[in-house]
Amino acid sequence: KVCQNLVDLDPAGIKTFFDSFDTVLCDCDGVLWLSQEAIPGSPEAIRLLKSLGKRVIFVTNNSNRTRNEYAIKFKNLGYEDITKADIIQAGFLTAAYLHEKHFSKKVYVIGEDGLESELQELGISYINQRDDPLPDGWNEDKIRETLDNLDPDVNCVMVGFDPNFSYMKMLKACNYIQRSPDCHFVVSDVDGTFPAKKNLLLPGTGPMVSAIKTITGREPTVCGKPNPFVFETIQRIFPEVVGERTIMIGDRANSDILLGNRCGLKTLMVGTGCHNMEHIQQWQTSGQDDLVANFYVESLGKIISSHIM
Ligand code: PLP
Ligand code: CA
Repeated sequence: KVCQNLVDLDPAGIKTFFDSFDTVLCDCDGVLWLSQEAIPGSPEAIRLLKSLGKRVIFVTNNSNRTRNEYAIKFKNLGYEDITKADIIQAGFLTAAYLHEKHFSKKVYVIGEDGLESELQELGISYINQRDDPLPDGWNEDKIRETLDNLDPDVNCVMVGFDPNFSYMKMLKACNYIQRSPDCHFVVSDVDGTFPAKKNLLLPGTGPMVSAIKTITGREPTVCGKPNPFVFETIQRIFPEVVGERTIMIGDRANSDILLGNRCGLKTLMVGTGCHNMEHIQQWQTSGQDDLVANFYVESLGKIISSHIM
């Protein structure tokens, strides 16, 4: 599969590129910002896309912040006029999945505000004990007491990013899943790490999900990228969005680009986060076409100079 570097396109090619989509699905971390700092040029690139009449929808696998908190982050980092309605966050997708299944029991949540606020909006009841350590001097009797007190109404374990993930949370989640074969196991994402400044390895939601999967042998339903459910949900919210006229922009091939390729979207990979052109070349060599984007650009801001060229 061919991946074209945008800076190598001639003016006619650039025009064809910009004319080929109406909707932009844009990943956040690694494309727009890294941690708390905007990536230089990205706010201007988003402004350009909007001025060309493109609808820009932001799609993130982050599940710990609410969409309102995200809207504030956009504003603080220089992204203008972006509201909650423009943001699809993995917590929102996870809650939407349950809503679609007409789930009417209670959810045991491992995660933070980004999951809870979305469940509240959809009127789904849940329990979440943010800080849930093992009791002092724990032994089998104490564990049994804990398990005897599991909530009888819970029929779903939901996992998002949780910096207070603990043995106790694993214990409860696994026993909820174990006790009922129809207990849902839904998770925001399975990203192994999340992007941070160089040389900092930050475990993401994936390892927490893996722990529960290893213990129970149950496969989770992943509601964030790269599940096509993400694009199906976007099309339900914005019925005018057409796959062939949509481009997915991202920095992580196995979530963003894979999602785009699975859903028949155009794909643009940026080199400011997880993966870069060297990775693309390796996937081309090994025939992993699903990971190869149609286009590449070193940083999102570079689309401005290509457009002006
Ligand atoms: N998971 C967590 C916990 C995060 O904090 C982030 C980024 O902040 C991500 C995943 C990845 O987000 P994105 O899909 O915007 O790259
Ligand atoms: Ca990203």
